[in-house]
Amino acid sequence: MKHYDVIVVGGGPAGGGVASPLARAGKKVAMIEAAAYGGVCPLSGCNPKKVLMSGAEAMHMAAGMTGSGVSGGITIDWPELMRFKQSFVDPVPEGARKAYENQGIETWLGFAKFVSPFAVEVNGETLIAPNICICVGQESSPLSVPGGEGLPVSDDFLNLKNLPRRIIFIGGGFIAFEFAHIARMAGAEVILLNRTDRVLRQFDPELTQELVEASRAAGIDVRLEKPVQAVERASGVFRVRCGEHGSDIIEADMVFNCTGRRAAVSRLDLNKAGVEYGPAGITVNSRMQSVSNPQIYAVGDVADQGLALTPVATIQGRVAAANILHPDSVEVDYAGIPSVCFSLPPLARVGLLEAEARERGLEFKVKETDLADSFSWKRLNESVGRARVLIDERNDRILGAHILGHNAEEMINLFALIVRQGIPVSKVMETVWAYPTCGYELKYML
Ligand SMILES: Cc1cc2nc3c(=O)[nH]c(=O)nc-3n(C[C@H](O)[C@H](O)[C@H](O)COP(=O)(O)OP(=O)(O)OC[C@H]3O[C@@H](n4cnc5c(N)ncnc54)[C@H](O)[C@@H]3O)c2cc1C
Repeated sequence: MKHYDVIVVGGGPAGGGVASPLARAGKKVAMIEAAAYGGVCPLSGCNPKKVLMSGAEAMHMAAGMTGSGVSGGITIDWPELMRFKQSFVDPVPEGARKAYENQGIETWLGFAKFVSPFAVEVNGETLIAPNICICVGQESSPLSVPGGEGLPVSDDFLNLKNLPRRIIFIGGGFIAFEFAHIARMAGAEVILLNRTDRVLRQFDPELTQELVEASRAAGIDVRLEKPVQAVERASGVFRVRCGEHGSDIIEADMVFNCTGRRAAVSRLDLNKAGVEYGPAGITVNSRMQSVSNPQIYAVGDVADQGLALTPVATIQGRVAAANILHPDSVEVDYAGIPSVCFSLPPLARVGLLEAEARERGLEFKVKETDLADSFSWKRLNESVGRARVLIDERNDRILGAHILGHNAEEMINLFALIVRQGIPVSKVMETVWAYPTCGYELKYML
């Protein structure tokens, strides 16, 4: 039996966000990781996806400039791009584990399960602590239709040795869109099937609609209101039945289930710890304590609060650590956290959606800007680009910003600073920006 001040279950961004400040404060911390230190983000999420996206971006830019001074066909060499991606992934688990050990955190490799509210078991050993943080993330949800169990998921796409000729992505979230753009730019025939007529629900609906059109123009066959009814596999070919009665039949060489992810809690024996959870994950309060057992914290994707994004996991981790050190001291502030769909072009958002601002009864104007008509987008022959910014003129504040277009993922960081810090619009207008850059155009978006 081993005793600690805090046990952290899960070695991803959330686990790191909790464990490091506690170790720095002199706490005796154990961290347990079931698979590989680093978690989803650097191993099978954000980073590997963004490396693959580098190839797609190069293709997109070259295509845009063809006929404007760039000539000669380029293609994506999928196995080489995969090797490049893997060069980022391979060093992570050992590097992360060593970094934690260097901070004085005792690392364990094995699957943890609760045996009581104060104890977990790993590799036959019992670890005890007054506070335990659950940071186990999410796993892909199976598609509950005949043949849907065991369909390839995001991990499989990110490790594809060769690119299939015909691919179907099921789902209308950011993972399905990002993968569809990568695969299309790499030369695959791509179909994206979504159950309803709305995709990317957390983003601005008008810009989302434009992204759907841009995706179609890029050759991605986006089919809306096509619920999948069954998936059959025969002689290496997938046959997907979709539509209201399953009357549409589509064949492909590979089908990926990108319909969603759920909290990875099913094998943790949470009942032994008195920790309750719902469909969105472990029920937590704004201090990241489990509501049913406040000695136990849940942080990151596994918690039922906040978007399932790496920066959210990290700030939640810091808040949990602060509350363990100084009980009831800090709450998570979710204001001004940006989110991005890394499609081509990317779609980004920070702050309120227009509908959310209206529901709150706020007074604001929506400033629309056609970015495709602005120099920094025109020089690349970018045909799609629009910003929609919600401005509260009376209080001199920006309530929300929504951008579709080249560099949206960087532009949104400027807006994140403005929204989270409550910087007045008049101060933003006084700021001097480098020219010619996308950032310089920000003042015209207000
Ligand atoms: C394809 C994809 C793309 C993404 N792209 C982005 C992006 O562009 N930007 C962004 O911000 N976010 C992105 N995300 C989300 C991001 O990866 C997550 O929000 C982030 O990894 C959450 O961190 P976490 O520590 O909560 O969970 P995880 O990173 O999932 O880490 C949880 C860890 O716990 C371990 N674990 C599970 N059960 C146990 C157990 N019983 N015992 C011990 N260890 C256990 C797991 O092995 C894992 O290492 C993406 C996710 C996916 C799947």
